Amino acid sequence: MSRTVAVTDPFRATALSRMKPGPARVVQGLHALIRRSALLAPHIWMGSGYRTGSSEHQSGCAIDIIIVEEVGRRPSVEERRAALALVDWLIAHASQLGIRSIIFSRDGKDRPEIWGYSAPGQWRAFPPRGSVSGDHIDHIHVLMRESASWPASLDTAVVGPAGPQSPGLPSTGVAEPDWDGKSFPGRLAFQLGRRHAAVTLLGQRLVAHGYGSHYKVGPGPEFGPADVAATKAFQRAQGWSGPDADGYPGPETWRRLMAAPSKPAKPAKVVSLAQLVAAAKRDPARPQGGTTAGSADDVRIVEAALMKEGLLSAKWASDGSFGSSTVAAYRRWQERLGYRGRDADGIPGRASLVELGRRHGFTVA
Ligand SMILES: [Zn+2]
Repeated sequence: MSRTVAVTDPFRATALSRMKPGPARVVQGLHALIRRSALLAPHIWMGSGYRTGSSEHQSGCAIDIIIVEEVGRRPSVEERRAALALVDWLIAHASQLGIRSIIFSRDGKDRPEIWGYSAPGQWRAFPPRGSVSGDHIDHIHVLMRESASWPASLDTAVVGPAGPQSPGLPSTGVAEPDWDGKSFPGRLAFQLGRRHAAVTLLGQRLVAHGYGSHYKVGPGPEFGPADVAATKAFQRAQGWSGPDADGYPGPETWRRLMAAPSKPAKPAKVVSLAQLVAAAKRDPARPQGGTTAGSADDVRIVEAALMKEGLLSAKWASDGSFGSSTVAAYRRWQERLGYRGRDADGIPGRASLVELGRRHGFTVA
């Protein structure tokens, strides 16, 4: 689609009467579907139906679904999310409706992706065409079979939460009863404030992959800011950025989360304040390198942290003895935190130890 579409008609699909009857019926059904959805209605509208200059549109079997306010512009995050939800829905209903193929740049990159032509059920990226519309960044091109039809059973289908045009419909458009409990449930399962069993599984997998620190309470079925933050951290760790790391799971995020974590999450290191205090009081009086029973492992953790802070020479950093060098290093750590006099005596206190652990990956028991 390269021309500007007139957006004066509220329906906005051009030359519907010149489309084939089946595809025209699908276009009307899709228009109503969009109007029923609070997710789609603010962003998505029907653009070019029948027109010359494109063999598919000229056949009367194709429609351009515009996902931006103004053709030629790149979509916002919300517009793209709405478009992806609609594309997921179209693919899920492709055989029912008679959809042959879809062209859309799902990730907004400067090249079209085509679903359904040569490899049924698969997306393939094609060479760039050099414009936002040519690369199908601002619209979804849908080609239907001449035999396309819109079953009446879809007249009440809703994508996402229902909009003002369907006050009687339930607000859960997600077909959760159909979810098999493991495959990607569709993007609609992940909307702030909405509940879906897949959200619980998402959180559990994020925890398994080591992103549990984002949850103040355990993962639950309501998709919330902690899920977004943990998902975003996971996506970034995949090397993704921009819209690929928006905190909302897509099929690839889901696939990687369901896989076993590539390396097991590091077990959290815990040190005992009581053991460290005992060692710091007794070890300096022992012969060089002497340790206190049960304390050496904890002392090594603290020594390693003090060394990383530049406060303890590597020479003393792994002997497990809280000797005079380690006491002196710990005093400098306390002074660095602003403690003076008796508060900077080189014997660990809880606050200074917690801060050291926060920076160097251990917690204090
Ligand atoms: Zn088109």
